[in-house]
Amino acid sequence: MNGIHTFNSEFKISVLLYHQIGISPSDETNLNCFCKTTEFHNQMEFLSKSNEYEVISLASAIDLISTSKCIDRNYVVLTFDDGCESFYDIAYPMIKSFGFTATVYPITGFLGQNAIINSKVYNHLKVMSEVMIKELGENGVDFGAHTLNHLKLTEISDSEAEYQIINSKCNLENILGKQIKSFSYPHGIYNKKIIEIVKYAGFKNAVSCNSAYLTNNSSLFEIPRKYITFYDDLDSFIQKIK
Ligand SMILES: [Zn+2]
Repeated sequence: MNGIHTFNSEFKISVLLYHQIGISPSDETNLNCFCKTTEFHNQMEFLSKSNEYEVISLASAIDLISTSKCIDRNYVVLTFDDGCESFYDIAYPMIKSFGFTATVYPITGFLGQNAIINSKVYNHLKVMSEVMIKELGENGVDFGAHTLNHLKLTEISDSEAEYQIINSKCNLENILGKQIKSFSYPHGIYNKKIIEIVKYAGFKNAVSCNSAYLTNNSSLFEIPRKYITFYDDLDSFIQKIK
């Protein structure tokens, strides 16, 4: 390895996308947005015991692809959309026990309450409170914005999209007292105009739901991520990151 080229086909950077973690999903839970506690534990334990993988922050992964450093192993980034309370109650204690880090994207219009999306109350989706976010922020968890109300940004006016994007950034910056650099498109939906607004709002990167590895060809405003779902056991999890 000559250290000039960042990527050969041998090593990968996988940015993983989780939502809720729990013992069992409710009837209304979207199973693509749910990971069982036992499976999550198995996945984290696998990553901690494997010499082939290292869990790094999103910022470190972006640094790796931006500076064309030579990568000599597989990297995994943990991200959690919506900022569910189950992150605070279940995922964070596990992540912490393994010494990992994560980026969380809360829906800031519903802090401390159940999410209401398109007039429907999501009883199973309670978003973390300001106090929880502040506490996690002080303990090394990274946060990114995910709008106020989780609307499909391509289906609302540009001015409303701007309002949703900018204010979710401000909300988190007020709570955490630091600049928020990352954005997650609700439902993974965006277009060129939405990317422009996200850049205009001052974000440095944005994560999508496009399933691929992160490479130095990836756009920083369309960072690919791989869903980890209710249907994943340890074998399929390993398939997704190898
Ligand atoms: Zn979401």
